[in-house]
Amino acid sequence: MIEDRTPTADPVRDRWRAAMRLALDEAGRATKGGDVPVGAVVLSADGSVLATGHNEREATGDPTAHAEVLALRRAATALGEWRLSGCTLVVTLEPCTMCAGALQQSRVDRVVYGARDEKAGAAGSLWDLVRDRRLNHRPEVIEGVLADECARLLTDFFRNR
Ligand SMILES: [Zn+2]
Repeated sequence: MIEDRTPTADPVRDRWRAAMRLALDEAGRATKGGDVPVGAVVLSADGSVLATGHNEREATGDPTAHAEVLALRRAATALGEWRLSGCTLVVTLEPCTMCAGALQQSRVDRVVYGARDEKAGAAGSLWDLVRDRRLNHRPEVIEGVLADECARLLTDFFRNR
């Protein structure tokens, strides 16, 4: 009997795979500057790419230069306003507390991430800041999109250091 290895269709996650591939490409750029490979993409309501960003903390010496923050700033510049209602941020690693705060402030509709960050994640793992019921704005969170590839990029990076 031939085993069927075709992954079962996942209607919630499958539609974000293409955007996550872009975020993975962006993550790869971070390592050139000696940064941990994390990449992010902001999509507009119609699904077009508004902005991208990768971790640039080492490259720029800026403690706030996480992929998500850079992508949100560029998306706001592209739109000409700080409110990113209707937008989706796609990122390879679960956002930290700072980025979860920035996502709150930006009013994005949705956060999609790949790998969980059990040590510092603020979107479901260690905290769940983005969906805290005490806050008015709570973006939808979809986790686990291409999670293995996103995690592998990080493990490979730390192994080769
Ligand atoms: Zn962060």
